[in-house]
Amino acid sequence: MDVERRLLDIVVIGGGPAGLAAAITARKAGVESLLLIERDNGLGGILHQCVHTGFGLKRFGQEMTGPEYVERFIREFEALKIPAALNTMVTELTRERRMIAIGEPVGLIEIEAKAVILAMGCRERARGAIGIPGARPAGVFTAGAAQRMLNIEGLMPGRKVVIVGSGDIGLIMARRLTLEGAKVLAVVEMMPYPGGLTRNLVQCLQDFKIPLHLSTIVTEIRGKQRVEGVTVAQLGEDGKPLSGSERVIRCDTLLISAGLIPENELSQGAGIELDPNTHGPVIDQDMETVVPGMFACGDVAYVHNIVDWVTADGETAGCAAAQLVLGKRPERCAPISVRPGEGIQCVMPQRFTCLASERLVLSLRPNMIARDVKVNIKNETGKVIHTVLRKVVRPAEIFDMKLPVEIVRECKELYIDVMP
Ligand SMILES: Cc1cc2nc3c(=O)[nH]c(=O)nc-3n(C[C@H](O)[C@H](O)[C@H](O)COP(=O)(O)OP(=O)(O)OC[C@H]3O[C@@H](n4cnc5c(N)ncnc54)[C@H](O)[C@@H]3O)c2cc1C
Repeated sequence: MDVERRLLDIVVIGGGPAGLAAAITARKAGVESLLLIERDNGLGGILHQCVHTGFGLKRFGQEMTGPEYVERFIREFEALKIPAALNTMVTELTRERRMIAIGEPVGLIEIEAKAVILAMGCRERARGAIGIPGARPAGVFTAGAAQRMLNIEGLMPGRKVVIVGSGDIGLIMARRLTLEGAKVLAVVEMMPYPGGLTRNLVQCLQDFKIPLHLSTIVTEIRGKQRVEGVTVAQLGEDGKPLSGSERVIRCDTLLISAGLIPENELSQGAGIELDPNTHGPVIDQDMETVVPGMFACGDVAYVHNIVDWVTADGETAGCAAAQLVLGKRPERCAPISVRPGEGIQCVMPQRFTCLASERLVLSLRPNMIARDVKVNIKNETGKVIHTVLRKVVRPAEIFDMKLPVEIVRECKELYIDVMP
């Protein structure tokens, strides 16, 4: 079989908001030889199924639905005449930035690129990943699959629903299903605090009087052909179900909203180092991974709450990849690694490799709820070199902090702690 071979400056893998922003920025910076590859039959990624509002507040100062938000970028992408291979999937990627793509319009092609921008998004954790015992009746869906059924295919996943997990997708689906006439009987969350953004807790649960049960798990799915109910139990302080706390909620549908993880197959195949905390690639301030010329942006780098930051990441990656291929890259420094300390679940980027800008930005996800905290930056000797105060930190909300470059210049490593 003849395989078409191509040599390009930049290939973007994934046509969601991250990939679109990266491609648009690279083209505006002057990159001509550019291709975006998307396995779906259209651009826009996950946002087409997110018909609720809550997008674009930061970016455009207005509340938009997912499709409205992404449409603006699709129009700009098309106006710039950036080539896109739709219905085409990248199946293999090597460390040398060679890839195999297979698709309806292109057949099998082998591409070598001077820079690759990974923008493949994330995937949902399914039932298997959270280990709920019981049979396998119909009526168990991930929240994202149910969202697609309802918003794209116009199908109702069920009528009497229990949702496991209080992340944003679960909360949004609780409201969406209620608006479509289903009864959402409960959202159960194993942690002692909710997983989603405060605005979603208020607008999706409290406004509709949907009960949220914290420190609670589903211990069994009941039913043979179709879900007939679930058994839930309260967790004790030792994290185990309290005996006698079990009760059955009769329902016909169980939605699982147990978190998202970056889409990692291609990154792993290319030998890119992954961060065990974000589950995505280790990145620097330019969204460049540890493999030179390979960038990662959007949810493939780490799972974001807000799409506006996904767009910003894509722009950073697109700009840096363009600088690389156009020979305009600022001078690099010896890598300075950044590690999460006490109170921090993950920190992005995980290293700085360039100190050319006056301020460096860190994005932090805390692992606790606390008020009036000090966020301390320490160097490799444990000395606190910078402190900022924050009113509230919550695991559901990533926050940014700016670091003056001067304080980082002499450091080899940085550790970030949150102290109540
Ligand atoms: C259900 C849900 C609700 C949300 N609600 C909000 C909200 O209210 N407000 C808000 O600001 N944010 C919200 N978000 C977050 C935001 O939508 C996401 O963070 C953002 O869309 C991620 O963009 P992305 O480009 O990284 O990934 P995606 O949009 O997932 O795009 C990735 C693309 O890559 C393609 N792809 C993957 N692998 C390959 C491959 N091998 N070859 C070719 N193509 C590939 C996929 O088909 C997909 O189109 C929500 C997210 C979800 C999932």
